[in-house]
Amino acid sequence: SMQEEDFEREVKVVVVGNGCVGKTSMIRQFCKGVYANEYKKTIGVDFLEKLQFVRGLDEEVKMMLWDTAGQEQFHALTRAYYRGARAAALCFSTIDRDSFEAIRTWKEKVEEECGQIPMVLVQNKVDLLENAVVSRQEAEDLATELGLRFYRICVKENLYVADVFEYLAEMYLQKD
Ligand code: GDP
Ligand code: MG
Repeated sequence: SMQEEDFEREVKVVVVGNGCVGKTSMIRQFCKGVYANEYKKTIGVDFLEKLQFVRGLDEEVKMMLWDTAGQEQFHALTRAYYRGARAAALCFSTIDRDSFEAIRTWKEKVEEECGQIPMVLVQNKVDLLENAVVSRQEAEDLATELGLRFYRICVKENLYVADVFEYLAEMYLQKD
């Protein structure tokens, strides 16, 4: 029907992880195709949007990617940040051990606020593998243990960033 054709699918996605792992950069790279080296704590907006085509399902989804405004302590994020989220990216950095150790807690936090929604484990900054403080094996083991698909990405070079969000969009669409 007309109504169905006009209906635009939208999904709120939260991008969580410790400070400086590249969340803001990832959202900006995906939605705007830009990358900046300088570290700004906040982009000053709640979220950015992007239409994502899901090849496997031949469907388009409007993705609303929510950024944290620099409140990266587990309990600093407000309920409003998580409210209505239907997918989540749990991010850590290749060169930040603490950010890797924090993944379990981020997952628990998302589950506490959002229930069982599609999630993915993301390792950013793979351009810095020479300085890696997390081995590929232990990251893969964590993904297996937590039952998450695992992506290794480089926001700086725009490698595999879109794959993360296409996967989440597909998981979301398959739920209903
Ligand atoms: P956030 O605190 O998680 O939002 O992290 P930001 O997006 O602000 O990024 C923190 C810093 O990491 C910035 O200086 C970025 O330029 C840098 N950064 C982000 N992605 C990459 C990447 O893939 N490789 C490298 N080398 N640096 C990155
Ligand atoms: Mg940020």
